[in-house]
Amino acid sequence: MPVAPKACSRFPLIIAVLFLLFAPDSLLLAQSSGRRSAPYPVLPDAPVRNIMLFIGDGMGLAHLSASRINMEGPDGWFAIERMPVTSLVRTNSADDVVTESAAAATAYATGHKTKNRMISMSPDSAKLRTIVEAAREKGLATGLITMGDNLTGATPSAFATHVPDRSMSEEIASQYALSGVDILIGKGEKHFLPDTSGGVRKDKRNVVEEMKRKGYAVVRSIAELEAAQGRKILGFMSLENNSDDKIVGATRKALQVLSKNKKGFFLMVECPLPDHGGHSHDSSAIVAGIQQLDRAVEVALEYARKDKQTLVLVTADHETGGLALAGAGKGATTVNTLFSTGNHTAVPVPLFAFGPHAIRFTGMKDNTEVASICGDLLKLRKFPAKR
Ligand SMILES: [Zn+2]
Repeated sequence: MPVAPKACSRFPLIIAVLFLLFAPDSLLLAQSSGRRSAPYPVLPDAPVRNIMLFIGDGMGLAHLSASRINMEGPDGWFAIERMPVTSLVRTNSADDVVTESAAAATAYATGHKTKNRMISMSPDSAKLRTIVEAAREKGLATGLITMGDNLTGATPSAFATHVPDRSMSEEIASQYALSGVDILIGKGEKHFLPDTSGGVRKDKRNVVEEMKRKGYAVVRSIAELEAAQGRKILGFMSLENNSDDKIVGATRKALQVLSKNKKGFFLMVECPLPDHGGHSHDSSAIVAGIQQLDRAVEVALEYARKDKQTLVLVTADHETGGLALAGAGKGATTVNTLFSTGNHTAVPVPLFAFGPHAIRFTGMKDNTEVASICGDLLKLRKFPAKR
């Protein structure tokens, strides 16, 4: 026969219920890892109007995990990790099982593999149509942001320019002036300026002035960026810092400007620190960079959750450093980082997806497939272009 519980044994339960009813939300959020770890929902299929592609340069699963364990603890969750669909991406280039950022970004930007160091040109040096070019032709707004690299760096360049070698910074800057990309933010103004005006260009062109005449607001600080009017912005600044207000502000501003285009937009945001930290075996740079990337992704996810027609993708171009995470002793809440190389590796990288049709990004993918699925979802013409 069941025994009725004594009143005193119910007492802790009553206290717990009263606590749950009256505790402030913030306290509950902090205490309930279940709520913080809840994945973003799988959205119903809808036409994809906007795509945001975040590229953690050199970001393998170990880089992401090291950063999250350090910032949120072993039981914590980054926003990136709460995206509901995941995939693995193979990264080999046309001429090497180990890629670098130019060939890897070309695969994401054009849907074709090329040789290492080439920027959106085929191995036989033909121009490859980029997703930014196809999106612009369809009337979409476009944006390229690198949090800490030069605008003429390999990753942003591959989305809007075509050169046979990634070192051709001045030619890349010249091509940006003709690209029509609405928002361009990164470092390296010197490649846009003549050597007579503090730049490095020998051809005497002032590409900054040329772009101003084409209607770009040129800004050099986050305050100037946030105050910028109009739909075209050229920003020269680093968004990396110890707090994450810069990258959050820049992401919000980019979304605010690009979303004025009712046909939709394509935005790529690159975080270069996981690659830099992987090359120099600097795990603190990796941790800081990915934490800032996660803050930017969280802004994107909140936008996409409300919009319901925006696909958010977070991935890497390749892994850097051959990073392994070893235990730091029983009870430790952090890990020891061990690098096996100072270069890139051939290990596949993770991809996280949220938004309508995110489910297309499951299983093992080739990096070129990421581009072809994006082109299909945005219904872009001649993309990827046939070869
Ligand atoms: Zn690298």
